[in-house]
Amino acid sequence: MALHPITKAIRTQTKRSSEGEHSTPLFLTSSFCFDTAEEMRAAFADETDDNIYSRFTNPSVTEFINKMVALEGAEAGVATATGMSAVFATFMALLKKGDHLLSCNAVFGSTHNIIKKYLPNYGIECSYVSADKPEEWEAAIRPNTKMIYLETPTNPGLDIIDLEFVSALAKKHNLILNVDNCFATPLNQRPVDFGAHLVLHSATKWIDGQGRVLGGVIVGDKKLINDIYLFVRNTGPALSPFNAWILSKSLETLDVRMERHAKNALQIATALETHPKISWLKYPYLKSHPQYDIAVKQMKNGGGIVCFELKGGLDSGRIFLNSLQMLSLTANLGDTRSIASHPASTTHGKLTEEERLEVNITPGLIRISVGLEYVDDILNDILQALEKS
Ligand SMILES: *Cc1c(COP(=O)(O)O)cnc(C)c1O
Repeated sequence: MALHPITKAIRTQTKRSSEGEHSTPLFLTSSFCFDTAEEMRAAFADETDDNIYSRFTNPSVTEFINKMVALEGAEAGVATATGMSAVFATFMALLKKGDHLLSCNAVFGSTHNIIKKYLPNYGIECSYVSADKPEEWEAAIRPNTKMIYLETPTNPGLDIIDLEFVSALAKKHNLILNVDNCFATPLNQRPVDFGAHLVLHSATKWIDGQGRVLGGVIVGDKKLINDIYLFVRNTGPALSPFNAWILSKSLETLDVRMERHAKNALQIATALETHPKISWLKYPYLKSHPQYDIAVKQMKNGGGIVCFELKGGLDSGRIFLNSLQMLSLTANLGDTRSIASHPASTTHGKLTEEERLEVNITPGLIRISVGLEYVDDILNDILQALEKS
């Protein structure tokens, strides 16, 4: 029976143990036993797909990967300890000295550090193009360009990059298109359907969705994934079986969670859009979003993140955070609990104002990760904090 990906995310299961458990078992073991020397030889010779050692494969991890592959509509996948090890593995496994990486400028902070600080040490050239100037991307491609890297929606500015457009560009120039799909999740956007070769996630965010574990995953083209798998297997940033078990259980509810996160976020964005303390507000599914048409084309809903600019700038941002009574001040997103952040005074606080503006961090920028609390409670907390800021 052909099953829908949402069903597969619920029903994909490691084979039951002799106990016949209904919920999926956890394989908390570092290695696996063989009955004979011959069986062990065959496993090491890749003649069987038996598990050998949990840095290579583990049934709990494989179950999580198989669900992600189904949800993203990809051929294969590999899991990693964190989102950052997923990002790093795609670069290190597929780029070599003399290659050029073309990246969108609006990328996650640690990804920016890998691109700017570390890759050049290995002779990998890197350059940025602007999220909001797609017409400039083709001219930035060099003869040695090997990969295009991007996030959409971007963090924290919520720019939307046209996946169909970038995918055509990658195809024309024979480049690997590598997309961080963390903000949207596969329930909202499937980059593979638009031609992406690799899709990666910080599973720490919406996929866990409850702020418990770190994890990462990369899915996509079989041959590329095999190269990344060998890099991860040899260098060691494997996903722990315990975290994989948590993440696999989380995928059973991802569809309903994301639907409610997006419903709450749209309601909050609509209510705040014209608030007198706010100079602009961005949410992908509001008509006022500069790339609304692209968002509607490639996303099923607007996702769970809303961002806005406080008219009062840096000071108002600090007052806003201090005035919140329920929303959490924490360095995460994609949780059942709503979270507020003010990048200019926290994650990007060490940069100069000029440096912040280069990566679109304006002084009064507030990012809300909308949770699953009763929506009026979230909105009322934001409204009372806005009154004071
Ligand atoms: C958090 C995040 C990452 C990094 O993931 P970790 O699990 O924290 O290592 C990468 N990309 C995006 C868009 C993120 O939000």
